[in-house]
Amino acid sequence: MGMCKGCREIFSTLEMENGYCKECNKLTKEEIKNKNLKKNLDNDLDNEAQKTNKITLKNKNNGLTKTVPIGFSWTLLFFGIFVPLFRGDIKWFIITLILAIVTFGIGWLFIPFFYNKKYIIDLIEKGYEPVDKISKKVLEQQNILN
Ligand SMILES: [Zn+2]
Repeated sequence: MGMCKGCREIFSTLEMENGYCKECNKLTKEEIKNKNLKKNLDNDLDNEAQKTNKITLKNKNNGLTKTVPIGFSWTLLFFGIFVPLFRGDIKWFIITLILAIVTFGIGWLFIPFFYNKKYIIDLIEKGYEPVDKISKKVLEQQNILN
């Protein structure tokens, strides 16, 4: 095991030559520097995306923007079916209403875990796209976009 002098990642000794990993061995000093710079920027973006609790999407068809919370939906837990209703999300208003009725309200405790994600997936199908790098990164982290 050893750390590559270029990208500072750990590799097995078999994969290394002269202190550099196979990939870094092919690069010049300048290219390694740029690669590390890019990696740091990616890490910063990853961290910021993990800290954020909302994203902004814009509809490419009509220019409308929406700011959407991500992760566990506290508002849904407290305000129930009124959340999809106020968002104009009729499909999920009906789904959550039926789910709440057929499970005698127990289903209600599970919906907040996935509602925001489903809502975002529906928006993307309607032509919404992330407006900034952080919003895009969040969607990638949640496997909504690749
Ligand atoms: Zn390397």
